[in-house]
Amino acid sequence: EIVELNAMLNSILDRFDMILLSPNAQFSDNRKIKIVREIPETPEFWVDIDYDKMTQVLDNIMNNAVKYSPDGGTITVSLEKVGHKVQISIADQGLGIPKEDLTRVFGRFFRVDKSRSRAQGGTGLGLAIAKEVVETLNGEIWVESEENKGSTFKLTFNYVEDELLLSGKNWDDD
Ligand code: ATP
Ligand code: MG
Repeated sequence: EIVELNAMLNSILDRFDMILLSPNAQFSDNRKIKIVREIPETPEFWVDIDYDKMTQVLDNIMNNAVKYSPDGGTITVSLEKVGHKVQISIADQGLGIPKEDLTRVFGRFFRVDKSRSRAQGGTGLGLAIAKEVVETLNGEIWVESEENKGSTFKLTFNYVEDELLLSGKNWDDD
């Protein structure tokens, strides 16, 4: 399935904006969290992925970004080309993730600081599922973080070159 990421990200973020900006929303609880988009206008970010699975992954990461953001925090979502890959970054200003846990957060049931996490709710499965899904889509996912400054989740996928889009190849749903 050929997906255009500019439009996809915008529609996902529209949904999060709607929830975050609506008064009395349980999810946001008026925490005044803002989403900033650094998404180019031109629809040129084509990737061969499954739209629904990708939505699930981005929902997971965005839910974490909101959950672990401080009140008044900004979540910056950007889309850019890096080499021959398309890169999505989701950066929050939350409490961050210790260095030794940067890969462990993608493990099943792993949660940084059990007591702190328990208060936030959740099972510790979100990122494990996200990583599995990203790998079935031939992408990569990792996190960079500075404690007490924030975390940035990055995802890369192979870019579908224009020549392929124009070649008339039949793209079957996988
Ligand atoms: P759920 O299954 O509901 O998603 P969860 O959010 O605790 O539960 P994961 O999404 O897998 O589980 O995340 C694993 C752990 O990684 C979290 O418990 C948290 O400690 C840490 N983590 C994830 N995202 C962030 C973030 N944006 N900032 C800080 N810590 C994070
Ligand atoms: Mg989660």
